Amino acid sequence: AVTQSAALPQVPLWIDGRPQPASAQRFGEVFDPARGAAIRLTPLCEAQDVERAVSAAVRAFPAWRDTPSLRRARILMRFRELLEADKENLARLVSEEHGKTLEDAMGSVTRGIEVVEFVLGIPHLLKGEFAENVGSGVDCVSLRQPLGVCAGITPFNFPVMVPMWMFPVAIACGNTFVLKPSEKVPSASLRMAELLNEAGLPPGVFNVLHGDRVVVDALLTHPLVKAVSFVGSTPVARHVYETGTRAGKRVQALGGAKNHAVVLTDADLDFTADALIGAAYGSAGERCMAISAVVAVGTAGDALVARLKSKAAAIRVGPGCAPGVGMGPVISAPHRAKVAGYVAQGVKEGAELVLDGRGLSVPGGEQGFFLGPTLFDRVRPEMAIYRDEIFGPVLVVLRAATLAEAIALVNANPYGNGTAIFTRDGGTARRFQNEVEVGMVGINVPIPVPMAFFSFGGWKASLFGDLHVHGPDGVRFYTRGKVVTTRWPEVASTAPGLNMPTLG
Ligand code: NAD
Repeated sequence: AVTQSAALPQVPLWIDGRPQPASAQRFGEVFDPARGAAIRLTPLCEAQDVERAVSAAVRAFPAWRDTPSLRRARILMRFRELLEADKENLARLVSEEHGKTLEDAMGSVTRGIEVVEFVLGIPHLLKGEFAENVGSGVDCVSLRQPLGVCAGITPFNFPVMVPMWMFPVAIACGNTFVLKPSEKVPSASLRMAELLNEAGLPPGVFNVLHGDRVVVDALLTHPLVKAVSFVGSTPVARHVYETGTRAGKRVQALGGAKNHAVVLTDADLDFTADALIGAAYGSAGERCMAISAVVAVGTAGDALVARLKSKAAAIRVGPGCAPGVGMGPVISAPHRAKVAGYVAQGVKEGAELVLDGRGLSVPGGEQGFFLGPTLFDRVRPEMAIYRDEIFGPVLVVLRAATLAEAIALVNANPYGNGTAIFTRDGGTARRFQNEVEVGMVGINVPIPVPMAFFSFGGWKASLFGDLHVHGPDGVRFYTRGKVVTTRWPEVASTAPGLNMPTLG
């Protein structure tokens, strides 16, 4: 955290339908990672800002809850149109603060918009069940009702898409929302707040706070926050889950990942190598669904590594906004140093460094946080470059003798976000999808991110909680069930019933 500098603009909060200054005395610097230059300041809010935002959301809840779901959907329909018109602007904000290429950022904005499209059907999604005559003259209906104020805490790597996994669903269900985006990429959230406002969302239904652990902990323990959705690294996800559930809230906390691609000898190796290059180095490897470990089965290894090496070396690295660039910088100077440290450790631990991105120089981007694509072969499970989530452009290749060995390796890993298998054999793929202990599986699909009408989530240390985000699980997470049993007696009962009612 830094103290205020007059030279840099401050990103405001969004409370009660308008931008507001924070009472913060501490600030985080937002960088343009391609230039390595601080471009604006994020206020690091204190508990009193949390109080203001939560109070606004509490005040807005009763009217929003009682707004017919079709009317809520119509506001989100206008929001969808505004997002579509503003797509490039939003993608530019993402690319500027995160560093990813503009095209990649556009893709992520599109995946966010798809969640809004999913919840346009909210009147249908909220319909309950009805059963007539469950007992003599007794009917039963099940309802799903909103929770109240929900909070979302999001990571730096998807400033539009990940918040949109959460708030469109929460709001469509009739909740109000407080978003705390990553302090490294604060601007896109403000733009989304403006667009929601323009779409006609009542003040207080959607609010944005900025900050670090102080804000997160205040949200996690605030008695009027009913549910928390978190996406970020595993240690913080665990902290959020434990703290939030201890405070009586429902929590879904999505964590980090180490996603494996298992490549069989019968796979089309050119197709597979292209798929793996995009999945490993797209967005500089800073995706929770990035493939960061390849398990080459049988004899697939040598031919695959040769292809990966030449394709990775051909990736053009540069500023995300420049045409023809395939990979931008990583998020910060400390993160680049951390990733480079892993590369050094991999060499020290005896892995074969096939391609070293550390020496890369980008003309004009000397101050940028660039690191070239890096490839290791003959990596063993005990090495740090395999054990840890590196979250950078580093791909490691391990060798396995059999499919069973490859599946055992994937299943022994503490993470379970995504995985993919590359093969031409249906039986092999079917066995893999059945046995692998991972939440999202691709068969010849390297980044199997489910569409908005399915739910997204990993297993094991990649998700704490029961329900995944968006899709049907999202609607379940942001609502609670109620069952109403009704009788309209024609004659009053003649005696009190003291036994367990059986409706017979
Ligand atoms: P992070 O855990 O550092 O931060 C995530 C959020 O938590 C931010 O809003 C941050 O301000 C807040 N935070 C940070 N430290 C905190 C603390 N000690 N207490 C309370 N709050 C804290 O993650 P990041 O670096 O922004 O994002 C990268 C990580 O997110 C990677 O591990 C990646 O795998 C993961 N991720 C996971 C998914 C998924 O779907 N599972 C998706 C995207 C990113």
